[in-house]
Amino acid sequence: MSSKDKGLVRPTVYQFALGEAVITNILEGYFHRNDMHPFIATNATAAEVEELARAHHLPFPAMEHNFVATVIKTPEKLIVVDPGFGAAAPAPSTGWFMNGLEKAGYSKDDVDMVLISHCHPDHIGNVAADGVATFPNAEIVIGRTEFEFWKRGENISEMRQPTLALFQKTLLPLEDQLRLIEPGDEIASGLVAINAFGHSAGHLVFKLSSGGKELLLLNDTTPHFVASFANPEWHFSMDDDPQAAAATRQRILDMAAEESLPVVGYHIPFPSIGFVNSRQQGFDFIPASYQFQLA
Ligand SMILES: [Zn+2]
Repeated sequence: MSSKDKGLVRPTVYQFALGEAVITNILEGYFHRNDMHPFIATNATAAEVEELARAHHLPFPAMEHNFVATVIKTPEKLIVVDPGFGAAAPAPSTGWFMNGLEKAGYSKDDVDMVLISHCHPDHIGNVAADGVATFPNAEIVIGRTEFEFWKRGENISEMRQPTLALFQKTLLPLEDQLRLIEPGDEIASGLVAINAFGHSAGHLVFKLSSGGKELLLLNDTTPHFVASFANPEWHFSMDDDPQAAAATRQRILDMAAEESLPVVGYHIPFPSIGFVNSRQQGFDFIPASYQFQLA
């Protein structure tokens, strides 16, 4: 698979320093969709979503859904967060993570930890293939609530049956090797898990502190860089518990705005780094420009 889709080059690796850490965002791929509504908001009208899209110079109903994985290099560990679809890549426009990792100068043998935010296919597909872990020297870390939800496999919606099957094929056979964590746990030095339940039963976000700097990995809290910020109350069609996900989105974005945290989001367009500003209602995502090159 190639990241030179349609013969055109696009940026797929973006690296910056954060305190003593080096952050690498990797474009795992993208989907082009033709259903911004209802994909991004099941409880808004098509006209409302179109108005917001047009106001931000976006087409409607066409949209690009990005998948952006993050690699954290601390002085102690190389940590890969949600390394994409892997062997389960559903289209040639996805499955680019390993290519990006290599471009960043890392090999799969270098990875000390694979950290999973939740068990949807774009986040766990590359953890293992045919029962063999993709990153042979890595500890695999995942939230206990999330793991146990999929292990029980009860009350799974029709839409999520393929997700359950992938979990059973990919993560469940590695059960004995997993480290299960709780919200509030320090996963590695300076890296903390935060409860962001809703998008999935035990979805987590991660906050990194290094050398006086901080970074919040929103993971799937914000599926769209305009809609999820402007209207956090909108229900994303891929949220397993839309009510809980909306409340979580409001809480996490409030925190990011109050603390002026730089944020990365798995579905925020590449290079997926920016800030959150509060508005009277909702939030704005402010994409970063050169801040991190000067830091
Ligand atoms: Zn996702």
